[in-house]
Amino acid sequence: CFITMEGVDGSGKTTQLQLTARYLLDRGYEVVTTREPGGTKLAERIRNVVLDADAAVNPRTEALLYLAARAEHVEKVIRPALEAGKILLCDRFADSTLVYQGFVRGIEIAKVQDLCKFAADNVQPELTILLDAAPEALLQRRADRGVQDRFEQEGLDFQKKVREGFLLLANAEPARVKKVHALQPAEAVQEDIRKILVEAGF
Ligand code: C5P
Ligand code: MG
Repeated sequence: CFITMEGVDGSGKTTQLQLTARYLLDRGYEVVTTREPGGTKLAERIRNVVLDADAAVNPRTEALLYLAARAEHVEKVIRPALEAGKILLCDRFADSTLVYQGFVRGIEIAKVQDLCKFAADNVQPELTILLDAAPEALLQRRADRGVQDRFEQEGLDFQKKVREGFLLLANAEPARVKKVHALQPAEAVQEDIRKILVEAGF
């Protein structure tokens, strides 16, 4: 089963992915955790290139770099794990591409969808956890913790647009994309995720 974790920067995806993996392992499942962009040696190199690029990078260039990394990741890590009957938990996937490169950077959504299908050779998540919260509140939480990274670089309006894009996706595909309130303490967020997993039969 292919499960993804999505959300704006600072919503706690990485923490929740680890907690979710531990829960599933405890329940006897074989679990592989990975992330995008990245997940293989080559894809991690592309990650460094794309996350290092300045804001003026052409949106199509950026999209193709993310998708090149994905094609490699799908064939080397994701598909093999799924074929071996494991649960594959991924920090970001095609929904991030639709939101960041489509909705936010302005590439036509239908085109991004086609490119995503091509890059992943039709491998798609069956369940997606969307960690949702108002970017203003996340920004405050990060300031309190002294965290400084891409969130601040991109700015609040950017993060608001990202959130809006994810919420549109969640509304368009409610059977797959499950929204979780991300501003709760990590244990409470994890509790909500476990309820979703139980409902999905795990
Ligand atoms: O949160 P994570 O560590 O995955 O950070 C990756 C960064 O890459 C995010 O800050 C996000 O803004 C950006 N990204 C993007 N387009 C994607 C995936 C990630 O701009 N398709
Ligand atoms: Mg993260």
